[in-house]
Amino acid sequence: MNGDIQNTIDSDVVVIGGGPAGIGAAIAASRKGLDVCLLESGDLVGGIMATCPGMPIGAAYPRGMSIGGILEEFLNRLYRKNPPAAEKRICRLAEFGPEVFYDHEIAIFTLFQILQEAGVKFLLNARALAPVVDNKHVTGVTYYDKSGQNMITAKFIVDCSGDGSIAAKAGVPFAKGDEAQGQMMAVSLTFFMANVEVDRIEEYDDPYFEKYAQKGISSGRLHQDLHKIYWFPGFHKNTIFFNAVHIKDVDGTNAVNVAEATMEARKRVRKLAAFFREEIRGFEKAHIETLGPSVGIRETRRFEGLYRLTGNDIFSGKKFSDGVVCCDNAVDIVCRG
Ligand SMILES: Cc1cc2nc3c(=O)[nH]c(=O)nc-3n(C[C@H](O)[C@H](O)[C@H](O)COP(=O)(O)OP(=O)(O)OC[C@H]3O[C@@H](n4cnc5c(N)ncnc54)[C@H](O)[C@@H]3O)c2cc1C
Repeated sequence: MNGDIQNTIDSDVVVIGGGPAGIGAAIAASRKGLDVCLLESGDLVGGIMATCPGMPIGAAYPRGMSIGGILEEFLNRLYRKNPPAAEKRICRLAEFGPEVFYDHEIAIFTLFQILQEAGVKFLLNARALAPVVDNKHVTGVTYYDKSGQNMITAKFIVDCSGDGSIAAKAGVPFAKGDEAQGQMMAVSLTFFMANVEVDRIEEYDDPYFEKYAQKGISSGRLHQDLHKIYWFPGFHKNTIFFNAVHIKDVDGTNAVNVAEATMEARKRVRKLAAFFREEIRGFEKAHIETLGPSVGIRETRRFEGLYRLTGNDIFSGKKFSDGVVCCDNAVDIVCRG
């Protein structure tokens, strides 16, 4: 295989995936004085923040308090911009905690800046392909970029790809989908509508527009899965963010499934926008803006760890002595099956 390798880089740490997890891991390792290389298969860092532009950031604020860390550093930078590029708001939907709304372009730019300042070397359009295994130890990873197939050797390989594709190939046991039917949560295509007269729609007391959605479904103008329309006023004036178009039964590790789901979701987004223009006061002159480049994938592989967190653990607020994550979000199972 080495005969096909164009370049080999050596690093202390290689982080696979430039989403929130990968950015956090790469910056933290770099600040410890390690030489860190981050591989991102897309054009942008941000992970789902890049795929679902403007997606509010939630769950980092148990009871409205920041839990600190790199996320807080990032958000503080956005709050301190002149004018501010982010704002924490009480969520208008009862089951969610406060969420942060932000300017997407400034947020992504700031993530790049933080990585650069921390000294992380990052490669874009560089997809990790497979672990390099030597005597049962993972000693590196192969990746593909426009120059062809390359290799990074490292002491530590951190898989933050969301899919765990490298860890899976290295033999880490995992499960996919629910135990009953192997179904995974739906994938979603998000978008904004701009030029909305937001003041004119605030008077609706139906938070998910369920009454209107029903009208759209029964008249054949909306897909039947759009019975509840999840929307928020966007960060910028006169914009509305929609996280409503969900496609079920998609295996997010299958490229054909993901491409087909994205095309189907684009059709449903256009129908939804047309319906809003026709039916909802305030949307008459609105248009689609900042459509995600592809569907956002919530769930693929779940690795078998030393302990499996259960629903009861969550409902009883169980604390673990080695816990690293704090979450105030509702149990949010989006259209499984
Ligand atoms: C539709 C949707 C709505 C959501 N809503 C919210 C919300 O309102 N609030 C909230 O806080 N959270 C929300 N989430 C959850 C949140 O987005 C995730 O928890 C978070 O993005 C997980 O971060 P991550 O870094 O683990 O993975 P991701 O954000 O998925 O990032 C993984 C990165 O790895 C890259 N990658 C994948 N494979 C490879 C490879 N082989 N080589 C190199 N790079 C690779 C990907 O391109 C991507 O950039 C939502 C998620 C989705 C999909």
